[in-house]
Amino acid sequence: MTIQCQSSFQNNNDAMRPEGCGSLYLVGTPIGNLEDMTYRAVRTLKECDIIAAEDTRQTRKLLSHFEITPAMLFSYHEHNKAASGPELIRYIIEGKNLALVSDAGLPAISDPGADLVALAVSQQIPVIPIPGANAALSALIASGLPTAGFTFIGFLPRERKDIRAVLAPLRAAQGTLLFYESPHRVAKTLVHLQEAFGNRRVVLARELTKRYEEFLRGTIEECCAWLAEHPPLGEYVIVLEGESKEEAQLAESSWWRELSIAEHVAHYASSGSPRKEAMKKAAGDRGLAKRDIYNALLEKE
Ligand code: SAM
Repeated sequence: MTIQCQSSFQNNNDAMRPEGCGSLYLVGTPIGNLEDMTYRAVRTLKECDIIAAEDTRQTRKLLSHFEITPAMLFSYHEHNKAASGPELIRYIIEGKNLALVSDAGLPAISDPGADLVALAVSQQIPVIPIPGANAALSALIASGLPTAGFTFIGFLPRERKDIRAVLAPLRAAQGTLLFYESPHRVAKTLVHLQEAFGNRRVVLARELTKRYEEFLRGTIEECCAWLAEHPPLGEYVIVLEGESKEEAQLAESSWWRELSIAEHVAHYASSGSPRKEAMKKAAGDRGLAKRDIYNALLEKE
C-alpha cells in the first residue's frame, strides 16, 4: 500500500495529485432546522464550481433560502452513482471544486456519498469535510444513554434473515447502538431489536431539530406499547443501550447455553470429571436436579 498524506497546511501530496486538480468538499446541511446551516457551509456552496446533490429539488430550496446561485447543480444518488461518480471525479481532476450535499445532514452517512469519497481518494483528490448537523449524533448526545462508546448501524436490511445476521454479532457490543428508521418500519424494527437483545432501554429520537422534536425513553416493550397508541410520524433515530455488565456476566456464566445436556455433561467429562461428577456440575449450571440430567441422557440413548 502507498501511504497518502493529505494536509490542508502542507501540500505533502502535491506530487501525487493530478496537476490543477480541484477538491471535493463534503458539506453538512441542516436535518430540519435551517439555523443549523454553518457560515462555512454557505460560503463553500457559494464558492464551489459544482454542487452535487442527492435530490436536486430539495437542494434548490435550501440554496434559494441562503441566496446561493450554483454555477452547476448535478444529481448524484444511489441510482445514478455508477455513471455520475466518475463524471464528477473527471470535473474535479480538470480543476473544478465540487461540493457534495445530501438531502439532510452529513453527506456520506447512510447515502452514496461514501462511494464518491472513495473514488476521490483513489485519485489523490483532496477531500475536505465541512461539518454540520447529523441525526445519529444529535440523538445520541440527548439520549441519556452512555456516549463513551457507540456503534452506528444506520438502516437495517429489509429481510428478516439479513436483519438477524446484522444484529447477532452486536449482542455483546457494550457501547450504545444507533439505527436510522422510517416511521413505517420503526415499530417492526423494535420487535427485531427485542428478539435480538431482550427488553433493553431504548430512546426513539423523532423529528430532531424540528418543531415536533420528541424523545421517547423507556424499555423496548414500553416504546412498542406507546407506538401502538401513538402511530409513528416523521423521521426516527433509534438509540439502543449496549450490553449491560449484568448481561455480560450472565452470558459469560452461561457459556453452556448453546450446548445440549449431553454435550454439556461431555464437556465436564472430557475435562477430567468422573461421569457422576460431570452430571452433577451440568445439573448445577442449569439449575436442574441430577435426576433430570440422567433422564435426559437416557432419552438421548
Ligand atoms: N446524512 C444524514 C445524517 O447525517 O444524519 C442521514 C441521512 S439518512 C438517508 C436519513 C435518515 O436519517 C432518516 O431516515 C432518519 O432515520 C434520520 N434522520 C434524518 N433527519 C432526521 C431528523 N430530523 N430527526 C430524526 N432522524 C432523522
